Amino acid sequence: MKFATKAIHIGEEPNLKEGGYGDVTIPIHLSTTFARKEVDKPTGGYEYSRTGNPTRDALEKRLAALENAKFGLAFASGLAAEATLLLSLLKKGDHVIAFDDLYGGTRRLFSDVLSNFGLEFTYVDARKPENVEKAIRKNTRLIWLETPTNPLLRLCDIKAISEIGKINDVVTVVDNTFMSPYFQNPLDLGADIALHSTTKYLGGHSDVVGGAIMLSDEELYGKTVFCQNAIGAVPSPFDCFLVLRGIKTVAVRMEKHNYNTQKIAEFLESHSKVREVYYPGLTSHPQHNLARKQMSGFGGILSFELNANLRGVKAFLKKFKLFALAESLGGVESLIEHPALMTHASIPKKERERIGITDTLIRVSVGIEDVEDLIADLKQALG
Ligand code: PLP
Repeated sequence: MKFATKAIHIGEEPNLKEGGYGDVTIPIHLSTTFARKEVDKPTGGYEYSRTGNPTRDALEKRLAALENAKFGLAFASGLAAEATLLLSLLKKGDHVIAFDDLYGGTRRLFSDVLSNFGLEFTYVDARKPENVEKAIRKNTRLIWLETPTNPLLRLCDIKAISEIGKINDVVTVVDNTFMSPYFQNPLDLGADIALHSTTKYLGGHSDVVGGAIMLSDEELYGKTVFCQNAIGAVPSPFDCFLVLRGIKTVAVRMEKHNYNTQKIAEFLESHSKVREVYYPGLTSHPQHNLARKQMSGFGGILSFELNANLRGVKAFLKKFKLFALAESLGGVESLIEHPALMTHASIPKKERERIGITDTLIRVSVGIEDVEDLIADLKQALG
């Protein structure tokens, strides 16, 4: 079954058996608990909704199918998925190697929360796989990648780094939020685990916060599903329904995000008030060839450097009529934001500057509106 078909059908097959109603969309099973006929036999396999729920099950089946994985797990947010995964797989004294250009909230979770529990983190520029290899220690258990990164759209070679992970018996995790499973499948490239903030492209409408993990290894799944229940950061049945509904259109949305973003990247690249544009779909992107190799599209996020100072950047960001000045990304509507003062403000200034998150960097999540209207809005703001 191909992607768009799986996105609509897996997990939501109508129940035509005796007693089923044949609903073509799954009911939202709000019940927190499930009555039994016999004391030692949960009815239909369900006992308590933190542990398992039919609407969440439907979502988890679909999530697995989209990443060509055996198992999918849904969480209350992307960060809930991240925290649960790390607590499932690691223990005090374990070491994690992470790409140095990560979503700010991920850095905050690693550096300000989990490091208090004896986990060690080393950040490397993973654009060069050898930097990951050099950072491996005896106690390294996990490699954490995001590609393309948020907000600088840097790539790392999933296949090459996953091989380094395999040779050293280290688990490789890829946060695949930016590409969605439509444009990139980390497991097919050798990674062990794909992770998503379903708040973004999978939900797709800026109306639900959620997270997901997809994997095929039974041992890793066993540990993670245990902690999904033990920690309890699970999504509500209504949120599961919203993500299931969003996923149905992810293929068509991603095509349009991709089309619009390419056009806007080309427009910005030719504008005199823009110093630099970061988008893997541009041939000027230093890793354009790697992007073509491991992704089947370039996605809906770009960032750029404005030829201005911070005051000028703030004035520019106030001028938009269509783009909302807002955090987050991956919804149908276009958003614009200032990483240094918004999404990545939790990273210490010195470290931000070292990575390249300057005061003149602007990130855009391009929606699926008519691209002519979006370019007109950018033009008037730049004017
Ligand atoms: N990963 C990436 C790449 C993100 O951009 C985000 C949020 O912006 C997250 C993870 C965290 O997801 P959530 O906000 O759903 O917790």
